[in-house]
Amino acid sequence: MTLSNPILSIQNLNHYYGEAALKRQVLSNINFKIHPQEIVILTGPSGSGKTTLLTLIGGLRSVQQGQLQFLGQYLNAATPTEMIKTRRKIGYIFQAHNLMPFLTASQNVQLSFEFQPSLSRQEAIARSEQMLAAVRLKHRLNYYPQSLSGGEKQRVAIARALVTDPPLILADEPTASLDSKTGRDVVELMQVLAKDKGSAVLLVTHDNRILDVADRIIRMEDGCLICD
Ligand code: ADP
Ligand code: MG
Repeated sequence: MTLSNPILSIQNLNHYYGEAALKRQVLSNINFKIHPQEIVILTGPSGSGKTTLLTLIGGLRSVQQGQLQFLGQYLNAATPTEMIKTRRKIGYIFQAHNLMPFLTASQNVQLSFEFQPSLSRQEAIARSEQMLAAVRLKHRLNYYPQSLSGGEKQRVAIARALVTDPPLILADEPTASLDSKTGRDVVELMQVLAKDKGSAVLLVTHDNRILDVADRIIRMEDGCLICD
């Protein structure tokens, strides 16, 4: 693995919820880096701050204290326009698949290209269908989410996250609603495709059976990172 410049670098990150007397610290002095193409698993008990950390990294929440640098840019100083640009360089996979129910599998994946006007519609369709074939859903292109199994929906979500070749994938408990065999399958697929596309992955999971897909495992407890 090339340990070149990190794509993500976090220094002394703190985060709080609530105001005044109700103010509560949920992240304490977080420091860590992710290098290109690295697969990092983040574990830890429920309520320890994992999702909060992911939403800060993903630009879905504003940094309150500390530094968060993604692809050389400081997100704590980013304007709303810069934040939007950053978000497009990240693929998101959530616990629930978050597919649009009124769009087919192919159309859901094509949505990722919505903000890339340089790409023709034909090209967007072709790349989406290619990506769905890569997650073994070639036979489900025109199916709506309601007609897909849990594992298939999560594979569509993976295709949607990866189709634009983002440098970073954030996955928050993507296997939580799947049985263990399907969950393992989905994560292995994500691992292979991320390596193939050169994307780094930060994956939150409680599932001990998938820890081996990681290059590195970090653990969160009470808002603090404990590195193995
Ligand atoms: P995890 O993903 O590890 O379960 P979270 O980041 O979701 O942890 O939550 C960390 C802590 O912050 C928990 O105690 C949770 O109740 C609290 N929390 C999460 N989101 C909010 C919010 N929007 N407002 C206030 N407290 C929150
Ligand atoms: Mg969470």
